Amino acid sequence: MIFADLHIHIGQSLDGKYVKITGAKTLTLPNILEVARDVKGLSLVGIVDSHSMGVQQDFKTLLASGDLRPLSTGGYAAHGVTVIPGHEIELQVGEGYAHFLAYFPYIEQVGKYVGSIKNSIKNWQLSTQRGFLPFELWLEAVNRAEGIWFPAHVFTPHKGIYGNCCRRLREVLPILPNAIEIGLSADLSMAESISELESVVMFSNSDAHSLPNIAREYNSFAHTDPSFGGLLDLIQSKTKTGVRNYGLPPRVGKYHRTYCLNCENVVKSNPPMLACPDCGSRHVVMGVLDRLVSIADRPMGKHNVSTYVHQVPLRQLPGIGPKMYERLLKAFGTEMDILHFIDEEELRPIAGEKVAAWIIKARYGELKVEAGGGGLFGRVVDILSLPVE
Ligand SMILES: [Zn+2]
Ligand SMILES: [Zn+2]
Repeated sequence: MIFADLHIHIGQSLDGKYVKITGAKTLTLPNILEVARDVKGLSLVGIVDSHSMGVQQDFKTLLASGDLRPLSTGGYAAHGVTVIPGHEIELQVGEGYAHFLAYFPYIEQVGKYVGSIKNSIKNWQLSTQRGFLPFELWLEAVNRAEGIWFPAHVFTPHKGIYGNCCRRLREVLPILPNAIEIGLSADLSMAESISELESVVMFSNSDAHSLPNIAREYNSFAHTDPSFGGLLDLIQSKTKTGVRNYGLPPRVGKYHRTYCLNCENVVKSNPPMLACPDCGSRHVVMGVLDRLVSIADRPMGKHNVSTYVHQVPLRQLPGIGPKMYERLLKAFGTEMDILHFIDEEELRPIAGEKVAAWIIKARYGELKVEAGGGGLFGRVVDILSLPVE
């Protein structure tokens, strides 16, 4: 079994230039590889700012130093973690704008892809820029460069395709994608309320803008080779069985319910709430749940822990402050080792009884969640702090 996070940004390229302005300076390609492998315990990562001129150069630098080694099936081995170069782009579909992810076997194909759509983006150093070209032309550029693609964080009101552009992908895209990224504030059972997603592969990724947020959401694959070719097989559903998503409980997400910009309150009435029930204003940030209920064509699926585990990152569990976190890593290796493999009996002498019990609860998706009130974020019962980004 391997763990994968396919949506990680770059804060800066090694030449000191900004890539993601809102990203952390420490979020560089070598730092991501080190943290993903040695701290998080991931086997496969996707870097979605590989289009950037500076980042393309960083790949070449690491290849020259031997820290990256091209795999015959695509992607690069970095001493135990595989990295796949990719790009996140914003495109107009229907009436709105949405983010899409593309991945390529090697940096040469990234260069080819960038070359063919270069005139459609203003600043090729920066992250997730708007592409001024029709979706079909973008798709052609991805295909010509042997890439694969899927829409990003599809349900979020901020540039998610269902959240922002359409009720059905078929209405706005020339073909149905083989995969989607679910995104924060939603989960698999929610996504299953849209029947056109029946056979689409679902991913959960971190969309990390900082090193600690890597693997905030992630996937485990049971039959997938950690390489570009492995990802291609998975997306073409050849190794789809054995995919499991690990994601924040949707109710803690900051876009889960509709938010009234006038009252500055999260609405609490039954979904879908498309306007504020208190003041009647339609000046709202639509909640992911409200949007989903309003566009669903069948009931929500039953939550199934064998395909989707509600989990919060290790550092967000009660009793795990910076010191305890370091102690756990020192004793057991990586976050994935601790979250998935170490027995409770082994955890107890290092973590204490309570923390060991919380880790086991997180492992099996048994954390209790309360929908929040009055703020942007929901709340996990007994969870002290939540990721705020
Ligand atoms: Zn995005
Ligand atoms: Zn992103």
